[in-house]
Amino acid sequence: MQLINKLPDTQGGSRTEVRGKDLTRLLIRLEKENEWNKKVTAKQNGFQILYLDPMRKISAFILFFLIFMLTACIHSSFAQQKKIRVLIVTGGHGYEHKPFYNVFDSIPSITYDTLVQPQANALIASPEVNRYDVLVFYDMADSISPAQQQAYISLLKKGASMVFLHHSLVSYQHWPEFIKIVGGQYHTAPVLVNGDTLRANYEHGVIIPVKVEQKNHPVTRGISDFEIEDEVYSDVEILPRVQPLLSTSLPKSMRYLAWINHYEHSDVICIQLGHGPSAYSNPNFRKLIRQAIEWAIDNKN
Ligand SMILES: [Zn+2]
Repeated sequence: MQLINKLPDTQGGSRTEVRGKDLTRLLIRLEKENEWNKKVTAKQNGFQILYLDPMRKISAFILFFLIFMLTACIHSSFAQQKKIRVLIVTGGHGYEHKPFYNVFDSIPSITYDTLVQPQANALIASPEVNRYDVLVFYDMADSISPAQQQAYISLLKKGASMVFLHHSLVSYQHWPEFIKIVGGQYHTAPVLVNGDTLRANYEHGVIIPVKVEQKNHPVTRGISDFEIEDEVYSDVEILPRVQPLLSTSLPKSMRYLAWINHYEHSDVICIQLGHGPSAYSNPNFRKLIRQAIEWAIDNKN
């Protein structure tokens, strides 16, 4: 924003280019020092200001005000445009609402709506789903119609961004495609996988040592290995093709705690962590959720 032509250059002063931020600073200084009518040199910014007569003072002030308003409008519409629209899907499993939503309230880059099942699946199978950039699943659902199944698959063929959290790994025990979408599943009945019988189980309140498998991935960037008090799942089936992001060496936990699973044209993110307030308030968990949502949309663009 160049203001070079807007500043007076009477009485022998030099014409000087002043940009928006510098002008603001300069005008504030002029106002403060009541030196509107005097010559002021603002050396730190490398420019000079000149004698201003009262009329010029008024025009400079109006100009400053207009620029301020314009900048504020541009910033605000830009910020609104750039907000990621998230749909958080819940239902089928209890959780502490306030601390859970606090995780999302603390992410400045998003706006979100929440919807419980089965209404969420009805929306997902309707054009209304296009109002959202990222779908975050924190549901534990079992009912899904063939049309709704097809809707998930069609969205993923179009590169939709989906993030599955914690007990959403337990959803859709009778929909075989679900594990291919998420990359893993907590089977509620014993299941034979590659000759091993998996008997999935869980334990609350475990201190879990978490290892970051990919320190440079945008989802885990800036997160060092950490500990979290959370619920562990054991004997969960994880497809060999997933790209692990977090793991643990804890024998009673499933090995990978977060991963990316490529399905159709989408990179689906799954994060096993996140049972309750001790996880919600963990800064590494929060960072992981924020970066997962932001990457889900960056990766799509
Ligand atoms: Zn849980």
